[in-house]
Amino acid sequence: MIDFNKTRILLEPNEIPKEWVNIVPDLPAPMTPLINPMDGKPAPPELAFAIFPKECVLQEVSQEPLIPIPDELREIFVKTYRPTPLHRAYFLEKELGISGDDIKIFFKNESVSPTGSHKPNTALTQAYYSKRDGVTELITETGAGQWGSALSYGCCMFDINCTVYMVRASFLQKPGRKILMQAYNAQVHASPTNLTDSGKAYYESDPNHPGSLGIAISEAVEHSLRSDTARYSLGSVVNFVLLHQTIIGQEVKAQLNKIGVQPDVLIGCMGGGSNLGGFMIPFARDKLHGVNPDLEIVGVEPRACPSVTKGNYRWDYGDSAKKAPILKMHTLGHNFIPSPIHAGGLRYHGMAPIISILSNKKIMTSIMHHQTEVISSGLIFAKTEGIIPAPETAHAVKEAIDQALLAKENNEKKNIVFCLSGHGFFDLLAYKEYMDGNLVDYELPNEEIQKALSASDMPEVDETRF
Ligand SMILES: *Cc1c(COP(=O)(O)O)cnc(C)c1O
Repeated sequence: MIDFNKTRILLEPNEIPKEWVNIVPDLPAPMTPLINPMDGKPAPPELAFAIFPKECVLQEVSQEPLIPIPDELREIFVKTYRPTPLHRAYFLEKELGISGDDIKIFFKNESVSPTGSHKPNTALTQAYYSKRDGVTELITETGAGQWGSALSYGCCMFDINCTVYMVRASFLQKPGRKILMQAYNAQVHASPTNLTDSGKAYYESDPNHPGSLGIAISEAVEHSLRSDTARYSLGSVVNFVLLHQTIIGQEVKAQLNKIGVQPDVLIGCMGGGSNLGGFMIPFARDKLHGVNPDLEIVGVEPRACPSVTKGNYRWDYGDSAKKAPILKMHTLGHNFIPSPIHAGGLRYHGMAPIISILSNKKIMTSIMHHQTEVISSGLIFAKTEGIIPAPETAHAVKEAIDQALLAKENNEKKNIVFCLSGHGFFDLLAYKEYMDGNLVDYELPNEEIQKALSASDMPEVDETRF
């Protein structure tokens, strides 16, 4: 007999978390500061306040273990898409030949948000604080377009202006994302533009310059510094973004509690680390306090861009133009340009400092997969559970399938939970190429990593000064 309570596990609206979980005070190594690229010293708050929404700067350096979510914001989450469901992947389990309840696969469905990913969790939050503090415009960059659409939606909800510098290569390849941003009233520019000093030189040398995330970040930061009431918005990597995403993991915890299931492994893909961070931080905090100490936490990276698995833990610039803060993180070097894999959201050279510390201290592990095996797993998921995952998300799907099959082979009991960070409706080309047999794999050779990491312009930061 089916126990209906155990198939798609839902929370009541009033069960949406009241606080975000800040893991910074519990980290097994002290959080490192953001360094100003201009002088190599910790960025003074005045500089940070001029760039980012104020409340986000305060949250970035907060030592409070729990930070209240404003009621007004919780209400908006409830009226729009939260809490999101946790599904038992029965049809996927059946396809994998897992019978009975020894091995269970669950996924947290963040694809039900209006823009199809977890990113509105922080976009709405940043737009909310900006509106409250009199900010009239948020500016950002976007690669594949997931973050640009999420921030455009957030700004639209709070009636503030949004400007997005979209890497020209994606602007041309993904018109759907651009149209979505425009539907939310955002101004979308193909970057490099001739509207900023950072973009102009590239634009003038080639008006069809394909652009890069590094250039787009520089353009967005420059634009935001032009006006007192404009701010720059970030969609991953920094502490406050991971903080906003912890709403995901807290819901998962409550949902698993409802059905009396303790997770053995948590899996998420990692680009800058925000969906995995938000998903696992509430559990990692417990693990650091000795609760469920054997819990495995696995971050999945593309073989073409394995920042944690193959990069170094060191200081590096957040962007290739060296305008963004210097962070201590796992990095492949800011000069590294990843191969054009379809998981655009995972093509970032660095990783969130929180994820970097947890990886360095072995609280979590990382693994890499090739894009063909990833997209193939995404298709299995689409055929069984019905949702076609974003290429980024399909990395987590691949790992969940691998773990389930390994547990089956070893006759182990295992509760596997992964984060379905988004759907792939705007990324169908990846699936088309796979089905046409045209999808290719990229492996990043070690020599290339060493070359990028030994570049003469890697920053040196004197840690004895703070
Ligand atoms: C942006 C994105 C990612 C990667 O970013 P993280 O900050 O690592 O989560 C993963 N999945 C989806 C669907 C995305 O849009």
